[in-house]
Amino acid sequence: MVESALGNTRSYELFERAKKVLPGGVNSPVRAFEPYPFFVDRANGSRIYNVDGESYIDYCMAYGPLILGHSFKEVLDAVREQLVKGTLYGAPTELEVDFSELITKLVPCMEMLRLVNSGTEATMHAIRLARGFTRRKKIIKFEGCFHGSHDYVLVKAGSGATSFGTPNSLGIPEETTQNTIVLPYNNLQVFKEVIKREGHDIAAVIIEPVIGNAGLILPKDNYLNQIRKLTKDHGIVLIFDEIITGFRLALGGAQEYYNIKPDMTTLGKILGGGFPIAAFGGKREIMQHLSPSGKVYQAGTFSGNPISVTAGYSTLQILSERQGKIYPKLEKNCEELKKALADLASDHHIEAQVSSIASMFQIFFSPCPVIDYTSAKLSDTQKFYVYFQELLKHGIFIPPSQFETCFLSIAHNEEDLEGTINAFDRALHTVSIKSRSV
Ligand SMILES: *Cc1c(COP(=O)(O)O)cnc(C)c1O
Repeated sequence: MVESALGNTRSYELFERAKKVLPGGVNSPVRAFEPYPFFVDRANGSRIYNVDGESYIDYCMAYGPLILGHSFKEVLDAVREQLVKGTLYGAPTELEVDFSELITKLVPCMEMLRLVNSGTEATMHAIRLARGFTRRKKIIKFEGCFHGSHDYVLVKAGSGATSFGTPNSLGIPEETTQNTIVLPYNNLQVFKEVIKREGHDIAAVIIEPVIGNAGLILPKDNYLNQIRKLTKDHGIVLIFDEIITGFRLALGGAQEYYNIKPDMTTLGKILGGGFPIAAFGGKREIMQHLSPSGKVYQAGTFSGNPISVTAGYSTLQILSERQGKIYPKLEKNCEELKKALADLASDHHIEAQVSSIASMFQIFFSPCPVIDYTSAKLSDTQKFYVYFQELLKHGIFIPPSQFETCFLSIAHNEEDLEGTINAFDRALHTVSIKSRSV
């Protein structure tokens, strides 16, 4: 049982100090939660330890990157070895070539790619390149899909943008987003109508093939196939934003899982094995328009830095060598948690939807099936808050928002799962009592 008196902890002290120098006390809004977030001392395997000496089984996993768990030894060893050889050169390395070759092998739609430092950069430049390539202006994105925090895509963007009620951020001129068409996810009819009317003006369709930023929402049967077909028919660049799903749904990402080939792909999160790196890539004929070989400009001081590349390369090698063991095991464990969560919700007479795929899962406190952003928003976030807080009390850390997803890693073992299911039981019990009393 993890319990600290409010206001009497190191985390509280640090949060008070943090708020004076960091807006809201954090460096990314999703990390803030009431009454105050715990501050981390260290993390290992499936566990994260706070500065007050408490430990949690972690299902936030840094919002997705840590499929091997925290501080995976082989990755750290590789990084240590690289550190003494230098951390940044401003000149190309053999490592970048090895890494990029491995990426193109695992995600074959990426015939060429460019390494960048964050997912936000990857989607921003993928969109610019698609526009430069097609000489068209408009893009389509879907409600609840998050593609980073740059201007073109920060419209009905899920994730932190949803929780904080600012789907359209201040500071983004209307002119910037007037070429961004926002459509409901999983609705083929609306998509078809828009493509028919405006297809010739649309440069790109960007989509999270599985939404992991509005809770977890799966595509309907054949939905992605139809999007692929219609974009192809109209010469529109289809961008799969696989920053979460890449190396997560399968080694080759959602495109392997659903057997669909987009024109371009963005990768991040797992790609860096816990270090900052991302990539965008796709068909050679598109990628060749990127400078210096083409006229679409993109650059980055830290892009392809040897530390992140080493961590990413090591991670992808481990995943590909052991994929036959890793992915089935993750899926089995996730299925076990999902089933337990759904059964327990029903035992406690709580109306809830539990979605899961591969090693991702989430519960929505809603009586309605969740198929898009609108239905996700019907969820009872008060109940979710109680659920989150109760899990925390019982030593489980999940993302604090209803509009995020839980992630498993290979470090989560049987004992962790058992402890987690017990905590689910207690947390849902409290949710059911609290919702009866209001
Ligand atoms: C996390 C995420 C991003 C943004 O990546 P950052 O590295 O945080 O900039 C973009 N798209 C998706 C689908 C993501 O989950």
